[in-house]
Amino acid sequence: MQLKNLQNHNIIHGFSETSFGSMVSKKRDNAVVKFLESVSHKVAVRDIVWAQQVFGSKVHICKESDGGKIIKGVDGLITNIPGQILAVVSADCMPILIFDPVNNVVAALHGSRKSLISGIVPKALAKMVSRFNSKPRDILVGIGPHIRKCHYWLKPKTHRRLQSTSFKKYFVNKKGKTYFDLKKLALRDFLTSGIQKKNIQDCGICTFCDHRRYFSARKEEKRPYIYKTKHPRFAGFIGLKTVLTLKLSNKNIDSVVKIAERAVKEGEIIVAPTDTVYGLLADATNKEAVERVFQIKKRRKNKAISVLVKDLKMAKQLAVIDKKTEGVLKELWPGAMTAVLKRKTQSSKFKTKTQNLKVYGIAKKTIALRIPDHKFVKKLLEKTDKPLTGTSANISGEPSPAHIKEIISQLKDKEYFPDLIIDVGRPKKNLPSTVVDLTKAKPKILRKGSKIPKL
Ligand SMILES: [Zn+2]
Repeated sequence: MQLKNLQNHNIIHGFSETSFGSMVSKKRDNAVVKFLESVSHKVAVRDIVWAQQVFGSKVHICKESDGGKIIKGVDGLITNIPGQILAVVSADCMPILIFDPVNNVVAALHGSRKSLISGIVPKALAKMVSRFNSKPRDILVGIGPHIRKCHYWLKPKTHRRLQSTSFKKYFVNKKGKTYFDLKKLALRDFLTSGIQKKNIQDCGICTFCDHRRYFSARKEEKRPYIYKTKHPRFAGFIGLKTVLTLKLSNKNIDSVVKIAERAVKEGEIIVAPTDTVYGLLADATNKEAVERVFQIKKRRKNKAISVLVKDLKMAKQLAVIDKKTEGVLKELWPGAMTAVLKRKTQSSKFKTKTQNLKVYGIAKKTIALRIPDHKFVKKLLEKTDKPLTGTSANISGEPSPAHIKEIISQLKDKEYFPDLIIDVGRPKKNLPSTVVDLTKAKPKILRKGSKIPKL
C-alpha cells in the first residue's frame, strides 16, 4: 500500500500487506524483496536499514555502511543517501514515513505509544532540521496502518500509569473501557513542530479492524493462531531512489526496453534518445507523470508538449484524421515530423477506448503527434501500448544539449529529476523535429527541423 502524497517523487515507499508474509521471520529477506519489487525494481537486501525498535525515542542518522544492518537501540532512522531503504516493522504500532522533498531526506519511525509519548516525532524532526537544514513546512508525512481508537484498549496497568499524566487527553472512553488515540497524539506533535496539515496523509486503516491485510498483535492476543507464524510484523519502507543509468547498445536493446517499459508503467520519467534529440519519455495518459515532466523541464503549464504514438490507429484515437490528412501523415511518418492536428474531444460521455487514452499536457483544441523512427522508442511504444510524452530533455527556453552528460548537468535539480537515463552518449542525429500544422486546409510548416517535407 502506498500513500498519495508520497507518490510521484523520487522516492520508494510502501507498507507491506500480510500476503507478503512476516517481515521478522527467517524468510524475511524473500518477503522484503518480493514486496519492494512490487513497488520498485531497484532494491537489494543490502540496501535496507532496520531499526531494532525498543519502544524508545532514539533516532539514528544512517551512514553508508549501515546498509543491510539492524541499528541497535533506536526506533527511528533518517537518511539522505540515495538507494538506502529505511524499514520499521509493526503490528498495531504506528509506522510513520517522512520525506523532505527539498533537501532529499527521508525518515522512518516506529510510532509505538511509548515512543510517541517520549517524543520520537519532535526528536526526529529536530534532527532533520539541524543536520539537513530541512524546513518543517516542506516536509511530507505519511501515517501507516496502526491500531486506532476503535480498538486500542488500554490495559489496566497502562491506564493507571497514564491517568495522572497530560497524556490522559488522548483517552477515549467507550462503554466502560478506555481506548487510546495514537493518531491524535502524533498529529499534535507534527503540527506543533511546524508540519503543514495538508502535507500529512493518514491511510486511515486500523490494523485490528483490517487484521487480514495488516498484522495486528492485539488481534493475535485474542485469537492466537490467526496467522501462519507467531508474532508476525508488516513493514513500512522509505528510501530515496537512485537514478538508474543504462547504456544502450544493439545487443542489450530488449532488456533495456523491458526496464523502460516497467518504468513507464510506474509513472517514471525516462531520458532517452529518439530520432531527433534526447527526449523526456513518460506515459502521456498518467496525469502525475506528465506533471513531473513539466516540473523537470520547468515548463509553463499552459505550453503544450508533443506526444509520441506507435501507429496511425493510436493517432486516430487522439486526433481527428480525415482521409486527406491520413494521406499526408503516411508521407511524414515514421520520422522526425511532428504533426499538429485537431484534438478529439475527451468527453466523459464516451465509455470507449478513447476515454482510456486521455492524455495530459496538451493544448485545448490541438494535439502535436509523431510516430518516431527510432528502434528503441518504437519498441517501447509497442510494449507499453501507450502514447508517450515526446518533449525534448532540456530546461524550457534553454538549448537541448547533444551529449547525455550535458543533459544531466542541465537538468540537475534536487527536487525534480528523471528516474531512468538511457545513455547513447552523443547520438548521430541531433536535430529537433519539423513541425507541420495540418489543422487548416493548407499544411503549414511551423518549425523547420532535420527534414523538410514536400507538402
Ligand atoms: Zn479498529
